[in-house]
Amino acid sequence: MKLDITNKIYNDPDAARAHLEEQLWPNGPVCPHCGSFNATALEGKAHRKGLYQCNEHECREQFSVTVGTVFERSKIGLHKWVLAAHLFAASKKGISSKQIQRMLGVTYKSAWFMTMRLREASKDKYASPIGGEGKIVESDETFVGGKKKNVHKGKPEPKKHAVHALVERGGEVRAKHVADVTAKTLREAIFTQASRKSEFHTDESLTYYWMGKEFAKHKTVNHSQDEYYKDGAGVQSAESFFAIMKRGITGSFHSVSEQHLQRYLDEFAFRWNNRSSLGIEDFERANQLVKGAAGRRLTYRGPDEAKDA
Ligand SMILES: [Zn+2]
Repeated sequence: MKLDITNKIYNDPDAARAHLEEQLWPNGPVCPHCGSFNATALEGKAHRKGLYQCNEHECREQFSVTVGTVFERSKIGLHKWVLAAHLFAASKKGISSKQIQRMLGVTYKSAWFMTMRLREASKDKYASPIGGEGKIVESDETFVGGKKKNVHKGKPEPKKHAVHALVERGGEVRAKHVADVTAKTLREAIFTQASRKSEFHTDESLTYYWMGKEFAKHKTVNHSQDEYYKDGAGVQSAESFFAIMKRGITGSFHSVSEQHLQRYLDEFAFRWNNRSSLGIEDFERANQLVKGAAGRRLTYRGPDEAKDA
C-alpha cells in the first residue's frame, strides 16, 4: 500500500488522535493509571480534546491516549507523529532526521527526537525465542563503523562495533550489539534467543563448535570458499539482514555512535520482522510501530538539550 498523503490522519491532529485511539484501544479507552475500562469522554470547551475521566472511585484520574506513550507531552502535532511513524516504517533503509525535518516542517531537534522515539517504539520488548523443531536458525556476526576514509592523518582508525544476528530462515531476526565475538559473549546472545530444538547454521569458526552440539543439528559453511547452499547449509539470511542494515546505516545515517547502535539495530530488526514477505505491508507496519509506542518514553537528552520535541 502506497502512502496516501491526503489521508486525514497525516493532516489533522484530531483525526490522528482518533487513529491512535483505534490502534492502542481496540476495545475502548483504558485508564493508564488503574487499567479500568470504566471511563467517560470529557466533552465541551472546558477540556482539551481526547481527554477521558476514569470512573473508578479510588482512581478518578483524567487521561488521554498518549499517556505513557512516546508521544506524551510532545508539542509536535499528533498528525506529524503518525506521518513520521509511517515514513519510518516504510523506509527500507531507514529515514534520517534531516529527511523528517524537511518532510514534516519541524526543527532538526524535533526531527531527531521523533526518530529516536520511533526507534524506541520499534524495540520488540516481548521478543520470544526464535527457531524450534524443524526450523533453521542462522547465527553470524559483523562489524559496523570504523571507516578508514574518515580518519584524519595520524589518528587511529575509529573503533568497529560488533553486531550479532540470529535469523530464523523465513522468519524473524534478533540483532544485538555485542562487546566482542567470543564464544562466551555469543553463547549468551544465542541461548537466550534461540530454541535448542533448532537446526543451527553458522560459519566454520571454532566459536560455534561446542555451542553447535547443544542444538538438534549443526551445519557449517566456509565463508571464504564459495560453499554456500551446499547441503542447505548457509547463513544467507543473516547476511541479507546485515546488508540491509549496513546500507541503511551508511546511506541514511552515515554513521552511528556506539551509544545508539542498539536502537538502530532494533529499527532494522523491526522492519525485517514486519516485512512484506511475511504479509505485513507499509500501513500495517506503521500501525505496529504506533502500538509499540504505547508505554515507551525516552528520557535521555541530545543532540542538544532539546525541549521542543
Ligand atoms: Zn483509573
